[in-house]
Amino acid sequence: MERKKFKTEVTELLHLIIHSLYSHKEIFLRELISNASDALDKLKYLTLTDEALKTLSFTPKIDITFIDGDQKTLTVSDNGIGMDHDGLAEDLGTIARSGTRNFLNNLTEDQKKDSNLIGQFGVGFYSSFMVADKVEVISKRAGSDQAWKWSSDGKGSFTLEEAERESQGTTVLLYLNEEGAEYANRWTLERLVKRYSDHIAFPIFLAYDQDDYDDKGKKKGTTHKVEQINSAAALWRRSKSELKPEDYNEFYKSSTYDTDDPLYYIHTQAEGANNYTTLFFIPAKAPFDLYHADYKPGVKLYVKRVYITDDEKELLPTYLRFVRGVIDSEDLPLNVSREILQQNKFMTNIRNASVKKILGELKKVAEQNPDLYTKIVEQFNRPLKEGLYSDYGNKDTLVSLVRFKSSETDGYTSLAAYKERMKEDQKTIYYLAGGDEETIRRSPLLDGYKKKGLEVLLMTDDIDDIVVPSIGTFEELPLKAINKSGAVDDLDKDESKKKAKEGKSVLKKIKKALDKRVKDVVASTRLVDAPAVVVVDDNDPSVQMQQMLKAMGQADLPEITPILEINLDSPIVKKIDDSEDEDFISDMAQVLLDQALLNEGVMLKHPAEFVKRLNSLLSR
Ligand code: ADP
Repeated sequence: MERKKFKTEVTELLHLIIHSLYSHKEIFLRELISNASDALDKLKYLTLTDEALKTLSFTPKIDITFIDGDQKTLTVSDNGIGMDHDGLAEDLGTIARSGTRNFLNNLTEDQKKDSNLIGQFGVGFYSSFMVADKVEVISKRAGSDQAWKWSSDGKGSFTLEEAERESQGTTVLLYLNEEGAEYANRWTLERLVKRYSDHIAFPIFLAYDQDDYDDKGKKKGTTHKVEQINSAAALWRRSKSELKPEDYNEFYKSSTYDTDDPLYYIHTQAEGANNYTTLFFIPAKAPFDLYHADYKPGVKLYVKRVYITDDEKELLPTYLRFVRGVIDSEDLPLNVSREILQQNKFMTNIRNASVKKILGELKKVAEQNPDLYTKIVEQFNRPLKEGLYSDYGNKDTLVSLVRFKSSETDGYTSLAAYKERMKEDQKTIYYLAGGDEETIRRSPLLDGYKKKGLEVLLMTDDIDDIVVPSIGTFEELPLKAINKSGAVDDLDKDESKKKAKEGKSVLKKIKKALDKRVKDVVASTRLVDAPAVVVVDDNDPSVQMQQMLKAMGQADLPEITPILEINLDSPIVKKIDDSEDEDFISDMAQVLLDQALLNEGVMLKHPAEFVKRLNSLLSR
């Protein structure tokens, strides 16, 4: 017998499970059944594709037994793929998914107490230790003739030894503790399986002893019974008309780690040139790994009801990675490889049709159920925006789906709603991107637009700077970023010309003082209180964007200089205009630029210089 230590992250996870998920301890059964079902899926697939296993005949099933004695026990058994010595040591000694590990590391103390969050990434097998003092796993890998027993009390280590098992598969044996005692009970088990695992595609049998009584109500013995306790039908293949919303919700929860009902589901049964079924869900909350590069795709692929993979990112475009669900094709071969999948015309058709369907349904929700759509937007607006520049074919629909904050209204608004509210002579959709909502709402640029009664869309997502320009125009109206040079004289061309003339000498003075730090210095028609603001050339990234790119390690970015827009009515600017003192003008000009940058949330390159100049000005 060998003894091995758990990897530290397992010990941490175990600690977290026992302390956070406590109120949800019954989910351990769902997790074990889901593992058993995965193991059956995997073996079924191999018997169809792997030469060595083609002759193996097996009837996939899951068995649950229990003993309600002094030591209460519970077993969950499957005849699936099984694990060999190394599999047991690896799979039940580490946390396989790197995303999960990162996720764990990044949790705050508060988040660790949020059992929904923890439940979301799937605590899997280890949740058994909430209800058991000791867990044994006896497993035999399909194709191998040696079985192994893994055993642990969940306190830092496990043992491995040779064992006996007739055929391939895995048995998980729980020595129930006080907390788990209630699960050595027929009715409790039946209820839990119905709630969480009814749609598992394989039959789940429960074995129990039933007391027999004679006519007078006296016990005369017991009969051993075995009964199937789930309906074991692939829900997505059942007719839509016989399914109720609750059925969909339960299916969603039993096939994902989510404990909340989904916001929406989309069930499509297509017949004709392509025969397939898809069932998609929009979760209530964004998956924890939505913005991780190694996110887990949410859609499972089946071929003729046989599970193929849950790890294929190409099933839907990346921007729809928050969608959960199932694609089941009648037309694909069972032994599809990843390469075939990516080129297969049936697959391409299903994918294209699925995207159209999902976006179309979202559009319907947006039009018919705005409250529900707001919930969707709160979670998934940003990924949908990614679609604007990655899915050109569906651009029009996507443009109608994305939402923005606004200078004039609370909550989210669409471009169409903005257009409705536009002033009659307005020919441009104005927006401001770069930085968080706080910073944007305080931008001095907004003052001039507010004064003129013009609404400005506020773009608060980090990708807006990139994706919004790709919209170009909306119903023939150009979108203009008000912090770019193209919008500078757009508000009032005559006024702009007048100001440029009026400010000629002071603009020249400031430009000379700032020299290479700016591309240009221009007179503003938009500033009300603030003395100056920075904008950038139409084709340059905003100052926040530049800062972000630098933070991401793009240090070799060419230095991009801003344009300084000056408020000629500001007393500070007047002081510069009146002065002939070169040092004073220089200090004033530099401080003017630096404070405008600070206002945009930009970190100054030489804060000490700024402080020195400020002090010199203050001491005058
Ligand atoms: P997850 O199921 O999310 O991968 P688990 O901790 O539940 O995480 O399981 C870890 C791994 O152990 C699984 O990915 C699988 O490889 C293996 N495993 C667990 N239960 C079984 C089983 N009944 N049969 C075969 N392999 C299993």
